[in-house]
Amino acid sequence: MKQINIIWRKEWTKEYESPWSIFEKVSLANLAARNVIIREFGSSDVKKLKSAIGNIWREFITLEGFDEDILTNVLGFNLKYQNNQTINKIIGPLHKYHHWPNIWFRNHLRWCQQCISSGFHSWLHQFILIDKCPYHEMDLMEECPKCFKQIPFLLSDVRLSKPFTCKCGFALSNPIKWLWRDWNKAYVLQNSSVLQWISNYGGAVEDETWLFLPQHTSLELMCCIKPQQIRRFSNQHNNMIRGSNFRLTLEQNKAIFDDNKDIFKSIDRYLRKTILYKHSHCIKQFRELRNTGQVEFPRICPYAYAYVFWRQSILKNSNFYRVNRRADDIENDDIKTLSETHLLFATKLIGDELKYLYEQYLEINKLKERNFQLLRWILKKFTADFCFKFFDEWLLIAGDRSESKTVPRWTNIYPMKQVSISKFIIKLKKPTEDFIEVAYYTKQTMKQQTITEYKCPNYSQRSKYIINTMRTYDPLGVAMDVYSSPTSENKQFKKYVDQYVARLEI
Ligand SMILES: [Zn+2]
Ligand SMILES: [Zn+2]
Ligand SMILES: [Zn+2]
Repeated sequence: MKQINIIWRKEWTKEYESPWSIFEKVSLANLAARNVIIREFGSSDVKKLKSAIGNIWREFITLEGFDEDILTNVLGFNLKYQNNQTINKIIGPLHKYHHWPNIWFRNHLRWCQQCISSGFHSWLHQFILIDKCPYHEMDLMEECPKCFKQIPFLLSDVRLSKPFTCKCGFALSNPIKWLWRDWNKAYVLQNSSVLQWISNYGGAVEDETWLFLPQHTSLELMCCIKPQQIRRFSNQHNNMIRGSNFRLTLEQNKAIFDDNKDIFKSIDRYLRKTILYKHSHCIKQFRELRNTGQVEFPRICPYAYAYVFWRQSILKNSNFYRVNRRADDIENDDIKTLSETHLLFATKLIGDELKYLYEQYLEINKLKERNFQLLRWILKKFTADFCFKFFDEWLLIAGDRSESKTVPRWTNIYPMKQVSISKFIIKLKKPTEDFIEVAYYTKQTMKQQTITEYKCPNYSQRSKYIINTMRTYDPLGVAMDVYSSPTSENKQFKKYVDQYVARLEI
């Protein structure tokens, strides 16, 4: 084997350091490009590659693309082994939850400005259950503050130029300011949850089972001892899951669908009775495409806007407008596909999350613990919490959007969805013969002091009266008008309606 001589000292790496900053330092100290490093340190598979080296060889979790012996010889310690130990120490307490390690780490670089100012980046910064630097309690950077692009967490030039420098020229760390002796600097973990997490490695949580969405929980909640709510569910026979092969029966899946539909309906009703109370005629006007005649549609009330699109996006209905008022837009033909193996939710937007919780619950709970009432409670709670928060998100943008008569695309709605899912964890205690106890933990978010207030364009009695006398001009209706009377006015108006609706199509 060829001996590679590089400038390197073992002391330049720290506990929990990620290979990303180790390689950036190697690159800096030796004026070696990343592609040279990967060729020199690469595994035999990588060395054989004639073409470009793909990302699978550039990742840091397994370090699959690197040769263990070369790394050990050159760096003076077994980086592959140490890296594996570090990762296991961080995600060890999560071993029950059967995920690939990569689910627990961000795939874009997240860094602490303080740590990186002396060349240090940690696996803890990449850990998804952490939002702040555990050494400095500072918020982590998720993207370059100059070009707003994310940097892939790989040994790659895709978004980086010189060591520690973004392609756009922004220096994440300024090597001229720091001396190499800074690389010896000791870092002390400050965050108590992280310390507790690391010290509990593999212990303490064994007699509890946790239920959570990996992207929507935090270490703090996992370590927290003060729950928001504690509930007990009786383990009497008729509360238990009885389906064969550890699955639910068709009736039980139907009950879950009905719960979900009912909870959505009751929130819908609640909103219309409270914040939307004075806007029922506004909703009627907008949702039924009501107009006084072949003129421009009236201004959209922001409350009606928020409600109509909140509802459409949660249910993933194809149209925001509704012509047949009698038809139930929640329970549609899909219901026929509901089976023992196929779940269905009315709130389609969060279907994947509900399904994930459902499956995790069945997966992690042994036969005895599988209390059906508890599963229903979890799914209902998640749905209700989401629906309320998601309405606030729509209300937030309703002012400008109703004015411009536009609607965000799905790519903008998904981030609204993400922020509407509160961080939470449900801890299931070991069940007794009689009952199972659960503790629900969530992060208390400060309720916004000033709830968004808008001026309703239809607040007067007269407006209400006018709306009641308006007629519906939906695309199908105006197309029929053109068909029965193909005048240029009718054709012109049809064009206008089609355009208006198209602008408001998600
Ligand atoms: Zn830091
Ligand atoms: Zn940049
Ligand atoms: Zn209104």
